[in-house]
Formats: sequence, structure tokens, C-alpha cells
Amino acid sequence: FLADGDTCRGQALDEIHAAVMARPCDGKVADYIPALASVDANRCGIAFATLDGEMHAAGDANIPFSIQSISKVFGLVLAMQRMGDDIWQRVGMEPSGQPFNSIVQLEWEHGIPRNPFINAGAILVADTLVSHFSSSRQAFLSFVRRLAGCERCDINEEVLASESRHGSRNAALAHLMKSFGNIEAEVDDVLSHYFFQCSLEMSCTELAQSLLFLANRGVHPLSAERVTTPRDAHRVNAILSTSGMYDQSGQFAFSVGLPAKSGVGGGIVAIVPGLGVISAWSPALNKHGNSTRALTMITELAGRLGLSIY
Ligand code: GLN
Repeated sequence: FLADGDTCRGQALDEIHAAVMARPCDGKVADYIPALASVDANRCGIAFATLDGEMHAAGDANIPFSIQSISKVFGLVLAMQRMGDDIWQRVGMEPSGQPFNSIVQLEWEHGIPRNPFINAGAILVADTLVSHFSSSRQAFLSFVRRLAGCERCDINEEVLASESRHGSRNAALAHLMKSFGNIEAEVDDVLSHYFFQCSLEMSCTELAQSLLFLANRGVHPLSAERVTTPRDAHRVNAILSTSGMYDQSGQFAFSVGLPAKSGVGGGIVAIVPGLGVISAWSPALNKHGNSTRALTMITELAGRLGLSIY
């Protein structure tokens, strides 16, 4: 099996994708912003990029989609590069057990978000980016493009406008943190950065390639760029394992056992340390905001190839 790993992985992807497409699709496409609701629910793709440069793909793996909360991973890594350990004074590292946009804990915990992957935490990270870069949007976009090896990756203006118009809850989170003194920049600037990064579109193959450094102790294997220290790659993966799938993170650890991040655009990325990155996409979501088909495909692939880190 190991000697024949590549063939095995490619075949597994094809079979798992075909099996999921043969079954009716559960879940519902995100409709909290109108621009996301118009996406075709039948889209479905999966890619597996490996550290040795292989890329396996099945279905709609090359179609760009709204990465939404997966952008929180790029934002955090960029902020860690820029701020070092100071960031952990302002955002926690515990699972929230609450929906991704929950506000209650933030009041109890004096404006310190539980972790960087719930909305409050990512808005806090956006504040550090706005405060540390003259143009945080440009810095963010260049960073992701470099990691993905793709100049084409861009934001979707319609999604961005829609996010901004329907962002009352995120605005409430930002204002509450500001009232506790945990947001430095102007709330409007912080929110506009946050909505910008959520509106980025990438395909499964681009996403898988861009996050390879997390499977490789911080070094991007294709460019040889050191993106984080091994310790910081460990830390990001640790928080992804406990908090990357929102209030379904425990179940995901139980059934899959990989650091992972989901977004309400229907994407999920899963890091396989020492091996590569899986990225799956299909728009219909379960009640936690995680893609039903992407979850099924990653669960089946990880089980079949024995990828759990535990
Ligand atoms: N843009 C979305 C929001 O802020 C991202 C949430 C998500 O993908 N879970 O609500």
C-alpha cells in the first residue's frame, strides 16, 4: 500500500467522490448572505496535495468558491508572523462549544474571544492585521497568493458587498470587544478587513497547496519558504484540532482525527501532518455550518487511508 500510495490516493478520491454524488445531498446552502445562497448546491470537489508535490483531484476541485472562515487560518498565521506571542494575550486557545457567531461567551470573558477560529477571534486577529500593516487587505491577499502559487486568487466583490450589508452580528462582536478595550483600530476598518478575507475565492487544489506548510512543520515544500516556526505550525494545528470545525470539533476529532477548518461557503481543509493537505467543497451545510458532503468525503478518505493523527 505505501509503495503504491499515489495510485491508491487518486483512486480513493475518485471512488469517494462518485459515492457521495450517487447519494442524495443533505443540508442547506448558507443563506445568511444572499450572494452565497445562489451557489449551485450540486457542486462537489476534493483535492489531496502531498508534500512531495503530488496533486490528486476529483469533481469540481478546480472551481473557485467562497472560502469564508477558512480565511481565518491565513489571517492567524499572518498575525502570528507579525505579532509573535503577544497575540495570545488577546485571544484564547480553548474550544468554545458554541456556534461560530455566538456572542454570549464574549461578554462573560471580558472581550477575550475563546479562540481565533470563531468569528469573534477572527475579528480580533483582523484588528491586529489592520494595526500592523499599512494595507492589511493587500498584505493578506499577497500572502495567500504566494502560498497558493496563484496570482489569480481574488475576492468576490458581490460576496464582499453582501457580507458588509448583512454583517450586523459581526459588527456587534467587534463593538463588544472594543468596549472591553480589546480592539485597537476603528471597528469599521477591522470589519472591512474581516469581510474582505471572508470573500476570497479559491479552489480545492489552490487551498490544499496553500496550506502545505502546516503539514510540514512550517516550511512550504514547493517554494521552500519558512512560513512559521515548527512550534507555531504545531500551535495552529492544535487549535485547528480542537476548534476548527466550530461546535462540531469534538465529533470531527472523534470520527476523523485531523486538524481541520471549515467555512460556510462549504469548504473544509484538513491537515495531514507529514503527508499533505486535503481540501473538499460542496455548498450544502449541516446545522453547525459545516458542509455535509465535504465532511463525508474527508471522513471516508481519512478512514480508508488511515490518516488520523491519534
Ligand atoms: N463570513 C462569515 C461570517 O462572518 C464566515 C463564517 C463562517 O464561514 N463560518 O459570518
